[in-house]
Amino acid sequence: MSFINNSKKKIALIDCNSFYVSCERLFNPKIQKIPVVVLSNNDGCVISRSTEAKRIGIKMGEPYFKVKELVKKNNVQIFSSNYALYGDISRRVMKILKGFSDKIEIYSIDEAFIDLSHIKNELVEDYGKRIKERVLKWTGIPTSVGISNTKTLSKVANHVAKKNKAGVIFLKDNIDEVLKNFDISDVWGVGKQLSKLYLKNGINNALKLKNISNSWVKKSTNVLGAKTVMELRGIPCIELDTEETKRKSCCVSRSFGKKVQSLEKLKESVTTHCLNAAEKIRNDNQTTRSITVFIRTSPFDKNRRYYSNSFTIDLPIATNNSLELVKTAITGLVKIYKHGYFYQKAGIILSKLNEAGEKELNLLTPILENKSQKLMKAMDLTNSKYGRNVISVAQAGINNSWRMRREHSSRIDTASFDSLPKISI
Ligand SMILES: [Mg+2]
Repeated sequence: MSFINNSKKKIALIDCNSFYVSCERLFNPKIQKIPVVVLSNNDGCVISRSTEAKRIGIKMGEPYFKVKELVKKNNVQIFSSNYALYGDISRRVMKILKGFSDKIEIYSIDEAFIDLSHIKNELVEDYGKRIKERVLKWTGIPTSVGISNTKTLSKVANHVAKKNKAGVIFLKDNIDEVLKNFDISDVWGVGKQLSKLYLKNGINNALKLKNISNSWVKKSTNVLGAKTVMELRGIPCIELDTEETKRKSCCVSRSFGKKVQSLEKLKESVTTHCLNAAEKIRNDNQTTRSITVFIRTSPFDKNRRYYSNSFTIDLPIATNNSLELVKTAITGLVKIYKHGYFYQKAGIILSKLNEAGEKELNLLTPILENKSQKLMKAMDLTNSKYGRNVISVAQAGINNSWRMRREHSSRIDTASFDSLPKISI
């Protein structure tokens, strides 16, 4: 069987190494060469590990209480996740990557595909090295760069690059040799279910999958399964998703560090989530037509009654005004709040998002809008200049005892002057 070999196409996958750990290390020279892990929300599970932590046997996704012994014995440094910090560093990394190719797909907080088809084969590995060096020099974040003909193969190349000293690989020759040693469950796009199906049929590595018959794949899997096989053969089937698609809805919710009973505390948390969501959509120049507020108790708490409810309010005029949204959300919350329950989570969803400016006007709109827009602008500017939530609304509370458990947080905030190192002369 012959295929049109699109060997001119070159895709690089740039992946930050142990991203969350690397972010924490940026601000803490003492944790450079020792085992470090970062925990998920409420200090639940291990979500990022340094090489040293991997070496002593701490597994990805393991609940914290299960590794406590190992942590103690090996003096592992523990951090609660600090997403404000990771998000900020991520944006800086992505901005640098955009300087190397205007075709970029930001795949996750620490990964991006970029199109390098414009670089000659013999130069592309050096180009990859330049990318890696620049990201390291400008942000301090170590990366691995895998380059190949297709997205799926660039993922494979990245795995190889991670184990390679240079950290950069252009996978072009000897692909089969690499695929032979590549576990089927590590192939991009092969999830748990597909993995099971392949293993049942004796397909335990990527090379076997590559060489499978087209008719079998079509019969046994779906379109995505067939695309993965084609991509392993070096035929690009999965396009870069470069369009910065605007979100259709925006949800902000958190589990409480400890259960919450009072309406006052719930109001504080809903207000805070609302302010965050409103700031997000203003950042994207969007407005909302609908707001949902939801609360629930823990479904796993066998000793207490379960309660979960939500309330959606359609707004007469599309808005991104924090004060208006908070007021509406609180009205909804009061409608669904029931006394006597131990609440575990609260959140809000802004939906029916639209481009700001695409909205219908009424008589009062111009006057009211002008005022509120100015206020929101001032609020966003102040907060981005002097730190998050410097200006807030009183309803958001000050103590926030309901906040997430973050006992091990580095408390680094790149948007806060207080986090800058102090030098005394
Ligand atoms: Mg990574």
